[in-house]
Amino acid sequence: MSIPKFAVLQKPRGEERTYGVTPRIPGGFITPEALINIANVAKKYGGTIKITSGQRIAILGVKGEDVDNIWEELDMEPGVLSPYSVKNIELCPASFCKRAKQNSLKLGMKIEHRFYGAPAPNRTKIAVVGCRNGCASANAKDIAVLADEEGFIIRVGGSAGFHPRLPDTIAEGLNEEEAFDMVEAVFEHYCEAAAMGDKLGPFIDQISFESFKVGVMSRYQEKRQHEKTNKEI
Ligand code: SF4
Repeated sequence: MSIPKFAVLQKPRGEERTYGVTPRIPGGFITPEALINIANVAKKYGGTIKITSGQRIAILGVKGEDVDNIWEELDMEPGVLSPYSVKNIELCPASFCKRAKQNSLKLGMKIEHRFYGAPAPNRTKIAVVGCRNGCASANAKDIAVLADEEGFIIRVGGSAGFHPRLPDTIAEGLNEEEAFDMVEAVFEHYCEAAAMGDKLGPFIDQISFESFKVGVMSRYQEKRQHEKTNKEI
Protein backbone atom coordinates (compact mmCIF):
# COMPACT_ATOMS: atom_id res chain seq x y z
CA MET A 1 0.00 0.00 0.00
CA SER A 2 1.37 3.44 -0.87
CA ILE A 3 1.85 6.06 1.83
CA PRO A 4 -1.18 8.37 1.98
CA LYS A 5 -0.57 12.03 1.14
CA PHE A 6 0.46 14.35 3.97
CA ALA A 7 0.79 11.55 6.49
CA VAL A 8 3.89 10.15 8.19
CA LEU A 9 4.37 6.40 8.43
CA GLN A 10 4.97 5.35 12.02
CA LYS A 11 7.03 2.50 13.43
CA PRO A 12 5.49 -0.69 11.99
CA ARG A 13 4.17 -3.22 14.50
CA GLY A 14 4.09 -6.54 12.70
CA GLU A 15 1.82 -6.20 9.68
CA GLU A 16 0.13 -3.14 11.10
CA ARG A 17 0.83 0.26 9.51
CA THR A 18 -0.33 3.46 11.17
CA TYR A 19 0.18 7.09 10.27
CA GLY A 20 0.47 10.52 11.83
CA VAL A 21 -1.35 13.57 10.52
CA THR A 22 -0.29 17.07 11.52
CA PRO A 23 -2.27 20.12 10.42
CA ARG A 24 -0.86 23.61 10.05
CA ILE A 25 -1.43 25.86 13.06
CA PRO A 26 0.04 29.25 12.10
CA GLY A 27 2.23 30.57 14.90
CA GLY A 28 0.80 28.00 17.31
CA PHE A 29 -2.43 30.02 17.64
CA ILE A 30 -5.67 28.10 17.18
CA THR A 31 -9.35 28.94 17.63
CA PRO A 32 -11.40 26.97 20.19
CA GLU A 33 -13.57 25.68 17.30
CA ALA A 34 -10.59 24.30 15.37
CA LEU A 35 -9.18 22.75 18.53
CA ILE A 36 -12.48 21.03 19.27
CA ASN A 37 -12.67 19.80 15.68
CA ILE A 38 -9.18 18.26 15.91
CA ALA A 39 -10.24 16.47 19.09
CA ASN A 40 -13.47 15.23 17.49
CA VAL A 41 -11.70 13.95 14.38
CA ALA A 42 -9.01 12.23 16.47
CA LYS A 43 -11.72 10.57 18.57
CA LYS A 44 -13.73 9.45 15.54
CA TYR A 45 -10.72 7.76 13.90
CA GLY A 46 -9.17 6.37 17.09
CA GLY A 47 -6.13 8.67 16.92
CA THR A 48 -3.82 9.68 19.74
CA ILE A 49 -3.28 13.41 20.15
CA LYS A 50 0.30 14.62 20.64
CA ILE A 51 1.38 18.23 21.23
CA THR A 52 4.52 18.51 19.08
CA SER A 53 7.73 20.42 19.75
CA GLY A 54 6.95 22.44 16.60
CA GLN A 55 3.89 24.13 18.16
CA ARG A 56 1.44 21.85 16.39
CA ILE A 57 -1.02 19.12 17.29
CA ALA A 58 -0.47 15.73 15.69
CA ILE A 59 -3.03 12.96 15.39
CA LEU A 60 -1.07 9.73 15.63
CA GLY A 61 -1.92 6.09 15.12
CA VAL A 62 -4.55 6.41 12.40
CA LYS A 63 -5.17 3.96 9.57
CA GLY A 64 -3.95 4.72 6.06
CA GLU A 65 -7.41 4.30 4.57
CA ASP A 66 -8.76 7.00 6.92
CA VAL A 67 -6.19 9.67 6.11
CA ASP A 68 -8.06 11.32 3.21
CA ASN A 69 -11.26 11.53 5.26
CA ILE A 70 -9.33 12.93 8.22
CA TRP A 71 -7.93 15.76 6.10
CA GLU A 72 -11.35 16.48 4.67
CA GLU A 73 -12.95 16.62 8.09
CA LEU A 74 -10.14 18.64 9.63
CA ASP A 75 -10.54 21.21 6.84
CA MET A 76 -6.99 22.43 7.57
CA GLU A 77 -3.78 22.60 5.57
CA PRO A 78 -0.94 20.14 6.24
CA GLY A 79 1.75 21.40 8.62
CA VAL A 80 4.56 20.15 6.38
CA LEU A 81 4.23 20.21 2.59
CA SER A 82 7.56 18.50 1.81
CA PRO A 83 10.75 17.46 3.64
CA TYR A 84 12.62 19.93 1.40
CA SER A 85 10.80 23.05 2.48
CA VAL A 86 10.23 25.43 5.35
CA LYS A 87 8.97 22.96 7.90
CA ASN A 88 8.32 25.03 11.01
CA ILE A 89 7.75 28.68 11.76
CA GLU A 90 7.51 29.01 15.51
CA LEU A 91 6.47 32.12 17.41
CA CYS A 92 6.67 32.94 21.09
CA PRO A 93 3.62 34.61 22.70
CA ALA A 94 5.43 37.99 22.44
CA SER A 95 2.86 40.67 23.39
CA PHE A 96 1.24 38.23 25.84
CA CYS A 97 4.59 37.94 27.68
CA LYS A 98 5.81 40.50 30.21
CA ARG A 99 9.43 40.11 29.02
CA ALA A 100 8.77 41.03 25.38
CA LYS A 101 10.87 43.91 24.06
CA GLN A 102 8.93 44.16 20.80
CA ASN A 103 5.57 42.81 19.74
CA SER A 104 7.04 40.30 17.31
CA LEU A 105 3.72 38.60 16.53
CA LYS A 106 2.85 40.78 13.53
CA LEU A 107 6.26 40.17 11.96
CA GLY A 108 6.08 36.50 12.93
CA MET A 109 2.72 35.99 11.23
CA LYS A 110 3.92 37.84 8.14
CA ILE A 111 6.92 35.51 7.99
CA GLU A 112 4.67 32.49 8.57
CA HIS A 113 2.46 33.41 5.63
CA ARG A 114 5.40 34.23 3.35
CA PHE A 115 7.46 31.10 4.07
CA TYR A 116 4.92 28.37 4.90
CA GLY A 117 5.89 25.40 2.75
CA ALA A 118 8.42 27.36 0.68
CA PRO A 119 10.73 24.94 -1.18
CA ALA A 120 14.27 24.88 0.25
CA PRO A 121 17.48 22.84 -0.17
CA ASN A 122 16.62 20.98 3.06
CA ARG A 123 14.12 21.16 5.89
CA THR A 124 14.25 24.64 7.33
CA LYS A 125 12.98 26.01 10.62
CA ILE A 126 12.33 29.63 11.51
CA ALA A 127 11.55 31.21 14.87
CA VAL A 128 10.36 34.73 15.68
CA VAL A 129 10.46 35.76 19.34
CA GLY A 130 9.95 38.87 21.45
CA CYS A 131 13.20 39.02 23.43
CA ARG A 132 16.74 37.63 23.72
CA ASN A 133 15.52 34.82 25.98
CA GLY A 134 14.91 33.03 22.70
CA CYS A 135 11.97 30.85 23.70
CA ALA A 136 10.69 28.38 21.08
CA SER A 137 14.34 27.22 20.94
CA ALA A 138 15.01 30.18 18.66
CA ASN A 139 18.77 29.69 18.74
CA ALA A 140 18.36 26.15 17.42
CA LYS A 141 16.53 27.32 14.30
CA ASP A 142 17.97 27.80 10.82
CA ILE A 143 16.73 31.38 10.86
CA ALA A 144 15.95 33.14 14.14
CA VAL A 145 14.45 36.57 14.64
CA LEU A 146 14.85 37.85 18.18
CA ALA A 147 13.91 41.23 19.60
CA ASP A 148 15.62 43.64 21.98
CA GLU A 149 15.15 47.32 22.87
CA GLU A 150 16.93 48.36 19.66
CA GLY A 151 14.77 46.34 17.27
CA PHE A 152 15.18 42.93 15.66
CA ILE A 153 18.21 40.64 15.55
CA ILE A 154 18.60 38.01 12.82
CA ARG A 155 20.61 34.84 13.48
CA VAL A 156 21.32 32.10 10.98
CA GLY A 157 22.38 28.47 10.95
CA GLY A 158 21.24 27.32 14.38
CA SER A 159 20.49 23.66 14.85
CA ALA A 160 19.72 21.09 17.54
CA GLY A 161 19.63 17.36 16.87
CA PHE A 162 22.59 15.18 15.90
CA HIS A 163 24.90 18.08 15.08
CA PRO A 164 23.99 20.99 17.34
CA ARG A 165 25.21 24.38 16.11
CA LEU A 166 24.85 27.83 17.62
CA PRO A 167 23.64 30.43 15.12
CA ASP A 168 25.66 33.36 13.74
CA THR A 169 24.27 36.87 14.11
CA ILE A 170 23.94 38.43 10.67
CA ALA A 171 22.13 41.68 11.56
CA GLU A 172 20.91 43.69 14.57
CA GLY A 173 18.85 46.80 15.26
CA LEU A 174 16.44 46.27 12.35
CA ASN A 175 12.92 47.61 12.21
CA GLU A 176 10.05 45.28 11.26
CA GLU A 177 10.25 45.93 7.52
CA GLU A 178 14.04 45.56 7.47
CA ALA A 179 13.84 42.35 9.51
CA PHE A 180 11.37 40.85 7.02
CA ASP A 181 13.61 41.79 4.10
CA MET A 182 16.65 40.33 5.88
CA VAL A 183 14.88 37.01 6.49
CA GLU A 184 13.89 36.94 2.81
CA ALA A 185 17.46 37.76 1.77
CA VAL A 186 18.89 34.97 3.96
CA PHE A 187 16.38 32.44 2.67
CA GLU A 188 16.70 33.39 -0.99
CA HIS A 189 20.51 33.38 -0.88
CA TYR A 190 20.48 29.97 0.82
CA CYS A 191 18.10 28.59 -1.82
CA GLU A 192 20.18 29.99 -4.66
CA ALA A 193 23.69 29.15 -3.39
CA ALA A 194 23.29 25.84 -1.56
CA ALA A 195 22.97 22.41 -3.18
CA MET A 196 19.93 20.19 -2.62
CA GLY A 197 20.39 18.43 0.71
CA ASP A 198 22.52 21.18 2.30
CA LYS A 199 21.30 22.31 5.71
CA LEU A 200 21.83 26.00 6.33
CA GLY A 201 24.28 25.72 9.27
CA PRO A 202 26.66 23.24 7.61
CA PHE A 203 26.39 25.21 4.36
CA ILE A 204 27.52 28.37 6.16
CA ASP A 205 30.45 26.44 7.68
CA GLN A 206 31.36 25.10 4.25
CA ILE A 207 31.58 28.50 2.54
CA SER A 208 32.39 30.57 5.71
CA PHE A 209 30.02 32.90 7.50
CA GLU A 210 31.77 35.96 6.01
CA SER A 211 31.17 34.72 2.47
CA PHE A 212 27.54 33.83 3.25
CA LYS A 213 27.00 37.27 4.76
CA VAL A 214 28.38 39.03 1.66
CA GLY A 215 25.83 37.23 -0.54
CA VAL A 216 22.96 37.94 1.85
CA MET A 217 23.84 41.63 2.31
CA SER A 218 23.99 42.20 -1.43
CA ARG A 219 20.50 40.76 -1.84
CA TYR A 220 19.26 42.70 1.20
CA GLN A 221 20.56 46.01 -0.16
CA GLU A 222 18.75 45.33 -3.46
CA LYS A 223 15.48 44.78 -1.58
CA ARG A 224 15.88 47.93 0.48
CA GLN A 225 16.71 49.98 -2.60
CA HIS A 226 13.70 48.53 -4.40
CA GLU A 227 11.39 49.45 -1.50
CA LYS A 228 12.86 52.97 -1.31
CA THR A 229 12.28 53.46 -5.03
CA ASN A 230 8.69 52.16 -4.73
CA LYS A 231 7.97 54.59 -1.90
CA GLU A 232 9.34 57.50 -3.92
CA ILE A 233 7.16 56.76 -6.96
S1 SF4 B 1 11.19 34.94 23.98
FE1 SF4 B 1 10.95 36.56 25.52
S2 SF4 B 1 9.02 37.54 24.96
FE2 SF4 B 1 9.03 35.54 23.99
S3 SF4 B 1 8.03 34.14 25.47
FE3 SF4 B 1 10.23 34.02 25.79
S4 SF4 B 1 10.59 35.47 27.46
FE4 SF4 B 1 8.61 36.00 26.56
